[in-house]
Amino acid sequence: MTRERKRDEGQWALGSREPLNDNERFKAVEDPLRVRERVEQTYAREGFASIPSEDLRGRLRWWGLYTQRRPGIDGGRTATLAPEELEDEHFMMRVRVDGGELSVGQLREIAALSTEFARDTADITDRQNIQFHWIRIEDVPEIWRRLEAVGLSTTEACGDCPRVVLGSPVAGISPDEVLDATSAIREIVDRHVGDPSLSNLPRKFKSAVSWLPDVPFQIHDIAFLGVEHPVHGPGFDLWVGGGLSTSPRLAERPGAWVPLEEVPEVWAAVAGLFRDHGYRRLRNRARLKYLIADWGVERFREVLETEYLGRPLVDGPEPVLPAAPVDHVGVHEQRDGRYYVGAAPVVGRVSGSRLARLADIVEAHGSGRIRLTPYQKLLVLDVVEPEPLVRDLEAIDLIVHPSRWRRSTMACTGLEYCKLAIVETKDRAAELVAELERRLAGQDTDITVNINGCPNACARTQVADIGLKGQLVVGADGAQVEGFQVHLGGGLSLAKNDEAALGHKPRGLKVAATDLPDFVENLARGYQEGRTDES
Ligand code: SF4
Repeated sequence: MTRERKRDEGQWALGSREPLNDNERFKAVEDPLRVRERVEQTYAREGFASIPSEDLRGRLRWWGLYTQRRPGIDGGRTATLAPEELEDEHFMMRVRVDGGELSVGQLREIAALSTEFARDTADITDRQNIQFHWIRIEDVPEIWRRLEAVGLSTTEACGDCPRVVLGSPVAGISPDEVLDATSAIREIVDRHVGDPSLSNLPRKFKSAVSWLPDVPFQIHDIAFLGVEHPVHGPGFDLWVGGGLSTSPRLAERPGAWVPLEEVPEVWAAVAGLFRDHGYRRLRNRARLKYLIADWGVERFREVLETEYLGRPLVDGPEPVLPAAPVDHVGVHEQRDGRYYVGAAPVVGRVSGSRLARLADIVEAHGSGRIRLTPYQKLLVLDVVEPEPLVRDLEAIDLIVHPSRWRRSTMACTGLEYCKLAIVETKDRAAELVAELERRLAGQDTDITVNINGCPNACARTQVADIGLKGQLVVGADGAQVEGFQVHLGGGLSLAKNDEAALGHKPRGLKVAATDLPDFVENLARGYQEGRTDES
């Protein structure tokens, strides 16, 4: 049952144009995209101290820039310090890689920028982006210039706007694909990233377009997933209103089938509807999922058709989903008879120097294309003889035949750089993977572990078998220590395409960070024994 919200939620469509919070205010004063001029003309010349707060902590996000956490500040002080005490004079910079597509030339430029400007940092995120750290404002115009010269950008990589568009890492090469969605992704990006009519949305707007269900489409604001219509043939099924964070919700199907060439139009219509009808009063109720929760998908579709498209959509069937997420790690045949090779760094952590070596290897094996995956992995496409490539990748610790633990563990940025973090994540995840590989060598398990530094769930706490949400917990000696609240039994699969996919949070189940290897080992052993008993 749906219910109409009565109070003023700041919806533009209802005439509410008075900004109701600080974010809405700075967006109303000026299109955040325009901050770029000031970066190039003033801030890069006059330095960090010249940047006023509204730009520093607000508009710069529209160009992929967040101030990063000052080193040495523990998670216990995250909520108590003022922003200027918490932040360093450096930035995290997010480079959007729409569809996860990279050429070897783009990879080389990312590698070079990392070593020259980012202290050799580069992380593959679980949204197919690359993140640098330690960026100085003085270097930002040069980085933009060089990224844009190779067709990459940081435009709207963060902020209340259309974020990177996820796509299948094997679009255009998979034998299982019927329609390649790449053209739709490119059209959305070309037309609407940096489009001032969509640069002030109520909140972030996450998108995915893929024939194959190898992107986590259920947790996006909008997703188009491949489906065969019995009359019209191959097209895409529309999903809307997904998102995790503190109030997780899976996307729903309005039941509409969209042909490939109409995907950008429908995407823009949904983005416009969100801009006009989305809630702008409270930041934590501004994602599209809250509007869908109140309206229901039937009304959403009706408003979309009547007010935004001016025509009805075609009713469509539900797509068939896989039993488990597909990560493409390993060696796989392409539809042209060549191979793609999927490799696993540990929790997406690579570096500029490693990416430079990767670019050499990719070229030496006759490939020019790389893809990033939504599981913090990477693929090398178009390989004729995969085994020599596998050896060269593994020589730089990009493992093609990894343990299940390396393969199925993800981690967000965490305390090392993130201002919102409460606990450390990346190093802890690397230690956990190494420890579990040692303790459970030879045991085959398909358990997924997602490690998050705070409740924001950037590494998808609620959709892993073991989801870990960073918080302070009471340690053995009674003092507060870094730890995690545990979420169990989540996962995006056909069998659980309902609330069960979000798992559950056993009351009071928390673990200190130092006990994490014991905790996961015990769960894994119990799970294995349960499976053995059932067989
Ligand atoms: Fe930062 Fe929290 Fe997101 Fe991790 S989940 S990257 S700690 S905001």
